Amino acid sequence: MTELLFRGATVFTPLGPTRADVRVTDGVVAHIGSVDPVKGATVVDVRGMYLLPGAIDVHVHSRDPGFPDKEDFGTLTAAAAAGGVTTVVDMPNTVPAVDSAGVLEAKAALARSKARVDFGLWGLVRASSTSDQLIGLAEAGAVGFKAYLGYAYSLRRKQVLYSAETGDLDLEAPPDYGTLARLAPVMAELGLPLAIHAEDPAVLNTFRRPYETYPDVLAGQPPEAEAVAISAAAAAVRQSGAHLHVAHVSSALGLAAAEDAIAAGSSMSLETCPQFLWRSDADFPRLGTWMKMNPPVKTLRDQAALRDGLVRGVISVVASDHAPHTDAEKARDLEHAPPGSPGVQTLLLSSLELAHRLGDVWMAPKWVSEAPAALAGLGESKGRISPGFDADLVVVAPDRMTTFTPGSMRSRQKHGALNGMTVGFAIEAVYLRGVPIFDHGRLARKATGRMVRPGPARP
Ligand SMILES: [Zn+2]
Repeated sequence: MTELLFRGATVFTPLGPTRADVRVTDGVVAHIGSVDPVKGATVVDVRGMYLLPGAIDVHVHSRDPGFPDKEDFGTLTAAAAAGGVTTVVDMPNTVPAVDSAGVLEAKAALARSKARVDFGLWGLVRASSTSDQLIGLAEAGAVGFKAYLGYAYSLRRKQVLYSAETGDLDLEAPPDYGTLARLAPVMAELGLPLAIHAEDPAVLNTFRRPYETYPDVLAGQPPEAEAVAISAAAAAVRQSGAHLHVAHVSSALGLAAAEDAIAAGSSMSLETCPQFLWRSDADFPRLGTWMKMNPPVKTLRDQAALRDGLVRGVISVVASDHAPHTDAEKARDLEHAPPGSPGVQTLLLSSLELAHRLGDVWMAPKWVSEAPAALAGLGESKGRISPGFDADLVVVAPDRMTTFTPGSMRSRQKHGALNGMTVGFAIEAVYLRGVPIFDHGRLARKATGRMVRPGPARP
């Protein structure tokens, strides 16, 4: 039996912050309160520090297997560990795409050999997906299903494509609202959420143009694309009772469409990302393609609406959409640089900073730990500091600054949308099930991450 005692931190508990000791037995939180050390316990002095639940990033792209020059599970989870993210949930657009149980199991085995934090896996919805494939994915441990509206699928390369040349016979059409309506009853039955990439392909086609300037991007991917996709997906799924999770909400109009759908009875959770909460079109001259992504970063008005949505609790989840490419790819011009940037390492600290500036630093663990745990079906074991929960813990210095510099990033892509930002918090140490995986700038030798599977409790 291993005993660990955290002494004197301000602990974020489900009831709010409290000055307390936390006793951990065999990797599980045993007691919160005033604790006398038992013989042989390791005592960690964390007076003056915050003790937070590890963050759960429900939206990362490990690129593994598929694109090891962009990232792999080792570099992804090194960045996660250094950023206080103790569980990542990986998107299914790796290669081969995770559209069936066999692919998911192979990916899990690969990830297990390299993961420094715990991980879950999303399954992919294709236009041709069958009920049996979804059931197989669920049995193999998928936390839910992701549909990329408007993204075609290459049968030969077994790959989801950002953009497709028309007339290519190798392509399977993207999943559409009909696909969602057809498969939603199976998802409802399985009790697993459907996550969508919400940009309506018809709206995008109408407004498509070459990208020479950032205003071209704003005009080419207008907020109407997001709003239409959210409304239509909600309508397609509502009657089934399946839970719809909208990934990376980026606009005021998209948020309004989601609120309308919720008012009409949709079971829906909303996610936004630090890049939409901290950046706007005004940052493009400074950041260039480091902030090119799908959906695009929009205006200050959108940023204000998303911040307001978080404070009101309508948006419950903040996730990174960590999507690295090589620095060489991102150095291409605006038209040709691929969309996506890294972000897993900066998720927790940027969220603490935002919550602090919005008036209550203790909102952050709800956005990055509690709500994501519920979404991924981990609400009984992770996302809280509470007796019986995994001791995934982050020690944060509340009075030490951190600047997000390329040199400090563990991801293979060093430059991200939050490049250069300074926050008034720093990560001292990170524990995964009671074992230190990051300590004062140093990663643990061993990769000890495990696969997590959704439990019976659903949002
Ligand atoms: Zn993504």
